[in-house]
Amino acid sequence: MADVQMGEAETFAFQAEINQLLSLIINTFYSNKEIFLRELISNSSDALDKIRFESLTDKSKLDAQPELFIRIVPDKVNKTLSIIDSGIGMTKADLVNNLGTIARSGTKEFMEALQAGADVSMIGQFGVGFYSAYLVAEKVIVTTKHNDDEQYIWESQAGGSFIVTRDVSGEQLGRGTKITLFLKEDQLEYLEERRIKDLVKKHSEFISYPIYLWTEKTTEKEISDDEEEETKKEEEGDVEEVDEDKDKKSKKKKIKEVSHEWQLINKQKPIWLRKPEEITKEEYAAFYKSLTNDWEEHLAVKHFSVEGQLEFKAILFVPKRAPFDLFDTRKKMNNIKLYVRRVFIMDNCEELIPEYLGFVKGVVDSDDLPLNISRETLQQNKILKVIRKNLVKKCIEMFNEIAENKEDYAKFYEAFSKNLKLGIHEDSQNRAKLADLLRYHSTKSGDELTSLKDYVTRMKEGQKDIYYITGESRKAVENSPFLERLKKKGYEVLYMVDAIDEYAVGQLKEYDGKKLVSATKEGLKLDDETEEEKAAKEEKKKSFENLCKTMKDILGDRVEKVVVSDRIVDSPCCLVTGEYGWTANMERIMKAQALRDSSMSSYMSSKKTMEINPDNGIMEELRKRAEADKNDKSVKDLVLLLFETALLTSGFSLDDPNTFAARIHRMLKLGLSIEEEETGGDDADMPALEEDAAEESKMEEVD
Ligand code: ADP
Repeated sequence: MADVQMGEAETFAFQAEINQLLSLIINTFYSNKEIFLRELISNSSDALDKIRFESLTDKSKLDAQPELFIRIVPDKVNKTLSIIDSGIGMTKADLVNNLGTIARSGTKEFMEALQAGADVSMIGQFGVGFYSAYLVAEKVIVTTKHNDDEQYIWESQAGGSFIVTRDVSGEQLGRGTKITLFLKEDQLEYLEERRIKDLVKKHSEFISYPIYLWTEKTTEKEISDDEEEETKKEEEGDVEEVDEDKDKKSKKKKIKEVSHEWQLINKQKPIWLRKPEEITKEEYAAFYKSLTNDWEEHLAVKHFSVEGQLEFKAILFVPKRAPFDLFDTRKKMNNIKLYVRRVFIMDNCEELIPEYLGFVKGVVDSDDLPLNISRETLQQNKILKVIRKNLVKKCIEMFNEIAENKEDYAKFYEAFSKNLKLGIHEDSQNRAKLADLLRYHSTKSGDELTSLKDYVTRMKEGQKDIYYITGESRKAVENSPFLERLKKKGYEVLYMVDAIDEYAVGQLKEYDGKKLVSATKEGLKLDDETEEEKAAKEEKKKSFENLCKTMKDILGDRVEKVVVSDRIVDSPCCLVTGEYGWTANMERIMKAQALRDSSMSSYMSSKKTMEINPDNGIMEELRKRAEADKNDKSVKDLVLLLFETALLTSGFSLDDPNTFAARIHRMLKLGLSIEEEETGGDDADMPALEEDAAEESKMEEVD
């Protein structure tokens, strides 16, 4: 088609990743090639949505082609299959950008997924569905006409490049896109009517535009001999003779006449208008798949209508997995399609559902909104606000229904717990309800997860608060010194090891009237002792007062204060953070954020309190030494070492790991009775641990 005679053919190279993708599609064996049709029909449907939306505010946009349709034309003679739509079409720039030179973020992800064994049918989810045409075609020609440009032709046999030409053939689309697939020899099954009809039923039944198939119809007709002669001349090849002998006498013949017609092959009655009790699970699944391009069924569905002052119908779905770009901030996730009285208005209607529920997919069809509603007027719209409130309520109901099945809920939670936590952070109105959906590992939950509700039922007599610890991983917090007392007392502690837990719990503050208390923050009070015990403790505390002071002097600004601890049993000491400042975990998270506000971090992260354990042997020895000689150099060294170790066991990171390592190495040498070299090259700047090395003046500088 793109003949050289047109003279204005421009050749473009496929962007590198797209080229790789094409090779992968062409050279790998996939059994599931049929999905190409679904992808192309879905693109057509999107293009039709776009022009319909534009026409709501400007009717003249439809002038060039008033009818909205998808047509499929199999051509057995030329072995081509064409998919034609009267959608928005593409300008020349669109053609060049969308079909070859600008790679979608999903291109690479999709290839990685494929190489990891993913099915090719997932292609639509990654936003590169068009290229699935090359599963069955050796050459593809795209003819397209956008209202704002001339008609253009895109053509490629893959192989690194594509050609774009202005279409001067005279065949006018009016508006829209025609995709012609030159089928590979072994893919001619896609020219069969039956096969195409089945595929449309299977994958594209819920497309809300009519899909017509160019079908062949054969009718029997009686004609006289003379007529036959004429017909034969006209339609050679298409006419078949029958019952020749029998009819000879009457000089009449029966012939088969082949005619063509457009046959509508999809029902378009929107599924949401039907009664939920009459819809099968398979039908929901088919609808879900056509709505989302997902290759798997949905995990849960909620189909409902709201009546009264305001009327709308909706179907909401929870997918089985999170999409690959769930928290890609460049892309606002929102998957609710808005219809007004059955007319599609827009995708991704942000006002319909809060961001944290962006993974929920579905449709909303309102009876009350005006048809010509624009994105700008949506924001102020009261009706939308009410719809949104209802959708959130129904979503939470749906999640609770999922929670009735343990296995399903585990899947759901794995995929979307971050969203629930984000919801707790953002949605104060539904915070309590969302809190019921949280699950955590805990000191008592074993391999299972526990809900806050179950935690409360297990609370010990006299336990007033709900305890939790935040950290990088379950492993990192399980043996944390902070848990020692709590464990000993039999109090359950929740492990919050998701970065977002830190934010969520900061907002949640309490559950069921019980305060959520961090095991790593200041002010953890476990007052359950007898008067005698308390007195003994006070006594002990007093005896450590001096050591606390000495330690604070040594540590300087590194800590806010040094106090005797209530929470540790075995470890010598730990570092806690202020009740309203960041925890160690939060500090870690904030340090990892490239664009953090550094003024905030110095303010929020500076309040560490060192808590020491008076019952620990090391502390006792330290106390004795400090008492004997306040300026004992070994005391200073040990205190610093204890501080640095506590940083680590309390979940902070070391600012200067080398100095720490040097201290440890000194200790090792001491333990192994290796003599210190007087002028050790490597060790020259390292702080000493031993009294006799304390004279080294360099030590001061290092600390
Ligand atoms: P996706 O459809 O997921 O965006 P595709 O690779 O299938 O990704 O298509 C790339 C782009 O090409 C689309 O986003 C759209 O802009 C354009 N496109 C594809 N098919 C059509 C069509 N039939 N009509 C108009 N534009 C189309």
